[in-house]
Amino acid sequence: MSNILVTGAAGYIGSHFVRRFLNAKSAGQVIAVDNLSVGHRESLPDTERIHFFENDIGDLEFARSLFRKHDISAVVHFAASAYVGESQEQPFKYFDNNVIGAINLFKAMDEAGVKKIVFSSSCATYGNPNYCPIDEDHPQKPVSVYGNTKYIAEKAIQALATTGWSYVSLRYFNASGCDDSGEIGESHDPETHLIPLALQTALKKREVLSIFGDDYETEDGTCVRDYVHVNDIADAHLLAFDKLESGAKTEINLGSSVGASVKQVIDLCKEVSGRDIPVKVCPRRAGDAVALFADHKRATEVIGWTPKYDLRSIIETAWNWESNRKY
Ligand code: UDP
Repeated sequence: MSNILVTGAAGYIGSHFVRRFLNAKSAGQVIAVDNLSVGHRESLPDTERIHFFENDIGDLEFARSLFRKHDISAVVHFAASAYVGESQEQPFKYFDNNVIGAINLFKAMDEAGVKKIVFSSSCATYGNPNYCPIDEDHPQKPVSVYGNTKYIAEKAIQALATTGWSYVSLRYFNASGCDDSGEIGESHDPETHLIPLALQTALKKREVLSIFGDDYETEDGTCVRDYVHVNDIADAHLLAFDKLESGAKTEINLGSSVGASVKQVIDLCKEVSGRDIPVKVCPRRAGDAVALFADHKRATEVIGWTPKYDLRSIIETAWNWESNRKY
């Protein structure tokens, strides 16, 4: 088996994927690239099967050199900037990394005759949904710079597919949870995601958790999201990777298909941690959709994927990590 290039390999989802890949496949090297702007070098295991490069994959000459030196057959492209709020403040950082960087990678791939990719896309490409659960045929009208950059990259890949590429673009809903081992997990700086913030508040690392709005038209007034475990997401990449060989060209939602409200998540975090989580109700956060959850039928039909972790086990694995973080 030839080698696989994983970009953003030391990031939250990339590092979980690399572990699952090494366990699932007995052969093949991982050419792991990460500029460590947000990734953690220690999230990658120490093994001869990983060749790590601290570099920017959007650097065309560097990308070209990788394809020249290593026998790469396919790419799993995680590397991207991924904060919606930041993307509104620094749009060109997002255009540079998520669009220009991606296109440079695609150019280097194409020149090297590597025409297979699993791409990290996002439910942010849908914008404010017209209906839920959201299926892949739902119109895409991204409302943030981040969502637009993912949309543009999806379109570039679709265009390349008309020239012979095969691809699976995976539209993540709310990636959450951590590996059961407790050795790798979620570590963002700044942290903006609900579950780690709730658990850090339970641990008294933060005084109080903000609830961004409790006057939405939902059962308890708080926003509804679709939380999906990072290992389930990683496994979907493995399944998608196996489909590239048979010429897959598709977009797939990765969500649990179950919506959970902010208050439901917080209650479960209290239960799992056995601690109190002080909250304060704050104004709505700009750009938040009231409810977002996936229809993941296509994932089941096309790549045979169904999530294995429910919300409780997502929070249990996140609690295991938060209580004893390695980085
Ligand atoms: N949220 C919240 N307080 C926080 C962080 C998030 O109430 O401190 C809410 C947020 O408004 C959204 C949900 O929790 O409705 C999930 O937010 P997160 O940032 O984790 O993911 P997003 O859905 O924005 O990708």
